[in-house]
Amino acid sequence: MTAAENKFWNNAELHNDEEQIFRQLKARSNKCRPLSISKDEQKGIFPGADRSIYETALDNCTCKDFGFRKLPCKHMYRLAHELGLFRLDKISTKGWGGWPVTLHKESAQQDRLFRGAYEEMSIGHPSEDRTNLQINHCRASLTNCTCPDFEERKKPCKHIYRMAILKGLIKKIPPSSSGKKYVVY
Ligand SMILES: [Zn+2]
Ligand SMILES: [Zn+2]
Repeated sequence: MTAAENKFWNNAELHNDEEQIFRQLKARSNKCRPLSISKDEQKGIFPGADRSIYETALDNCTCKDFGFRKLPCKHMYRLAHELGLFRLDKISTKGWGGWPVTLHKESAQQDRLFRGAYEEMSIGHPSEDRTNLQINHCRASLTNCTCPDFEERKKPCKHIYRMAILKGLIKKIPPSSSGKKYVVY
């Protein structure tokens, strides 16, 4: 590997970042299936929006996400996976946002998670780096929210839970009629 590639693929901490995990989850999906992979060149071609294509290497991608962040995008993760350099079958979303996993099992938190999953909320514009989202009248990230509930308790509010759900960090949310049993990863 070249130095530039090493910077990304030998950096375990980077891949545990929620924003990176979000891209790994996307990389796994069928929508991110490569059109072609060259194992010799370690490059791939991926379908883009409006019949465009993205040319992807281990240290570069022509998509907007990489252009903006200069960090591995979903295409780069999928390429690394196809080349056998990165595993996409062992993604752990436990401890997202730095919150202890047991916290989400408290009944007051289960209520908030329930509301985060099922209450109608207006989802507005993300911040430029996409770590913040306007939800109702609040600005929420995975670790912070501007609502009074968060300000007072400093524990995840329903907006933070909605954000985690949107990012695919919380799985197995049952239909609202089946009660309040959640599995939080
Ligand atoms: Zn890309
Ligand atoms: Zn909130």
